Amino acid sequence: MRRKLVAGNWKMHGLRAQLVEVEKIAASAREHPDVDVALCLPATLIHCATKVAGGLPIGAQDVHEKERGAHTGNISAEMLVEAGATLVIVGHSERRGDHHETSHDVWAKAVAAHRAGLKVILCVGETEAERDAGRAERIVQAQIEKSVPEEASADWFTLAYEPRWAIGTGRTPTLDEIASIHAISRAKLRQMIGDKAEDIRILYGGSVVGANAAAILGTDNVDGALVGGASLTAEKFVPIIEAAAGLG
Ligand code: PEP
Repeated sequence: MRRKLVAGNWKMHGLRAQLVEVEKIAASAREHPDVDVALCLPATLIHCATKVAGGLPIGAQDVHEKERGAHTGNISAEMLVEAGATLVIVGHSERRGDHHETSHDVWAKAVAAHRAGLKVILCVGETEAERDAGRAERIVQAQIEKSVPEEASADWFTLAYEPRWAIGTGRTPTLDEIASIHAISRAKLRQMIGDKAEDIRILYGGSVVGANAAAILGTDNVDGALVGGASLTAEKFVPIIEAAAGLG
């Protein structure tokens, strides 16, 4: 039985004044011990968030593949660990798109993060044009093949299916479409890493809100949600945690 994971991605939102939301979300997470909850924050907030999070896992949203070096503006996995992060998102579509990250880059980041002791949420997902062209499944399979490390296992690795066109748009795939991509994702993982694939969580991400969370989280092979906009406040995020708890 895979425990549900509800992870928030604050993107480039959040100053110290918003740490009160971290505290409130952490309090809700403590009330729902059957659900795993985490928040991936701007790097500048990680250290101070760990002081108020009461054990709620705090993560980052990207990491550089190298341990150190002449990489202006980047942050290594070791630096994130020192700041108090316990997990990191890699391959988010805003990184793949805006920063031209390839699946090989994403693979290298996941390997570096794991070596430093971070858990990893690795994102895959098609663009709208790719879905319209009937290529969504092939795109996701190819991204998984090229970006998931062969040493992936459930104790540190989570996959997130995030159709790019659903992120921040208020649009979501149908439940059947979500179930179909999650099923082919698990089959692909099984082909790559064998039986270990059964325990790996596959999150759905893209316009998850309180109102659609129970239906999405109740869909076959959906083991949780990666949430952007609705994770910024406890008011919006807690109903998603509650929906996950209701399914446990
Ligand atoms: C995300 O950024 O990963 C995301 C899913 O965003 P949103 O929930 O706002 O669509």
